Amino acid sequence: MKAPARSVVRSTGLCALLLLLALPVRPQPRLQSPVERSGFERLTSYDTLQAFLETLDGRGHCTVRRIAQTHKGRSVSSVLVTSSPRFGEDTLKLRVMLFAQQHGDEPSGKEALTLLLARIAGLDLDRILSRIDLIIVPQMNPDGSELRQRRTADDVDLNRNHLLLTSPETRGLHDLFDTWWPEVTMDIHEYGPNSRAWSDSGFVKSVDVQLGMLTNLNSSGALRVYERGSAFPFVDSTMQKCGYSFHEYIVGSPEDFIRYSTTEPNDGRQSFGILNTLSFIQEGRGGTELEDGLERRARSQCASIEALLAFCAGRSAEIRTLVARERRALVAGRGLPVVLCMDHFVGGRKMIIPVRRVPSGRDTLWQVHPLHDQVKPLCTRSLPSGYIIPGELTGIREILDRHHVQREIVVGSRRVDAVAYIIESVQPDTLEGEWHPRPSLRAEKVKRVLRTGDIVVRTDQTRSLFLGILLEPESMWGLVKYDGFSSLLQGREYPILRIP
Ligand SMILES: [Zn+2]
Repeated sequence: MKAPARSVVRSTGLCALLLLLALPVRPQPRLQSPVERSGFERLTSYDTLQAFLETLDGRGHCTVRRIAQTHKGRSVSSVLVTSSPRFGEDTLKLRVMLFAQQHGDEPSGKEALTLLLARIAGLDLDRILSRIDLIIVPQMNPDGSELRQRRTADDVDLNRNHLLLTSPETRGLHDLFDTWWPEVTMDIHEYGPNSRAWSDSGFVKSVDVQLGMLTNLNSSGALRVYERGSAFPFVDSTMQKCGYSFHEYIVGSPEDFIRYSTTEPNDGRQSFGILNTLSFIQEGRGGTELEDGLERRARSQCASIEALLAFCAGRSAEIRTLVARERRALVAGRGLPVVLCMDHFVGGRKMIIPVRRVPSGRDTLWQVHPLHDQVKPLCTRSLPSGYIIPGELTGIREILDRHHVQREIVVGSRRVDAVAYIIESVQPDTLEGEWHPRPSLRAEKVKRVLRTGDIVVRTDQTRSLFLGILLEPESMWGLVKYDGFSSLLQGREYPILRIP
């Protein structure tokens, strides 16, 4: 009885299919993003964004998931995009993570990602999606966005919260990263074109989009070369073809000096970069009012994002191989050099960028000078095979857990050989315009007894250099510069020991 029943089902299915094919095809209306629907007059509010994401969920390869809840109870949402049956299933695909609006008063990145999502829902990006699985977080800081302010409602700069991860928004993003380990990430922002330092020199930065590379010397040199030598020229030429102005992201003032942006591993780009991710920051031109020239701002940001995606799709196997190789190198741990202090110097590179003269408004080119285009190490140490953290330093244990660092919690007691830093003096120092304590140290071999609750963290893991940056007392971007951890440098001995 079974065989005929199946053939009935089959023939019924076939008839339905033929009937469907016979029906006149009605083109599906193209999904528009909220900002398109408003004619680029209104920013997409939190509620409108959530409603838009709801319509996307399950449509055009998109799955929407909440990654965090803000202090005001709003959701930070992610969209997993794949043309495979399940996200992450095709291990030959490259994974790319895009996130925007960590700063609530920089809305054009969010709008660009909604434009991109509407195109994805319309199946316009299927060629790219045949090579890439995409993770999109359009709005990292909904509370700040609703308040039209840079920081969160509880006054946190999310883009300086990637080391301690005290905010639910950044914790959610790092959990998402740790779930999928994307090979490529892009953090999307806006820059202020109306800086006094520039206009006093007779011009303003008028470029549509700036793209920033990794600058921290603890990210792989091979990845930094690949970003500037391969990815950047591709996106640059695509942007020119699209009619948008574009150059590498620079900060500073013509009256003083110009340099690449911060080496701080506490931001969205560098925090993933030091895990040897091909990581970028993008800065679109901001408006005097948040809505000024919104269409060009959103479309130019979207064009640059799509250009990067096209580059990644075209070189997906090469990038996967490169990132996998550089991440494997991190697992070596012991003996890896970790750069603890670094600064920007004149390196001799020539850079010419489009600028706008004031007050004439004439567009022209400017050769950037003085240009501090080279980051050099000022202080380097070798990683030990591990660190010992006394159990009472619970704040550090929490940070390690937020970063998914593999660690052992000691049970019982055991004797170990270790190296302690004896603190001889501590001087205040300034690098990149930021204060940090600079200790003078002497290393001393010691024998210690570990007790229940102490933490042993080995450096033979992907977060090896992250551990050095976080825990070494001389690290300009390390724990010692943060409120709540200044006591680490106040005793005779630095309480975190190195395992030789
Ligand atoms: Zn920003």
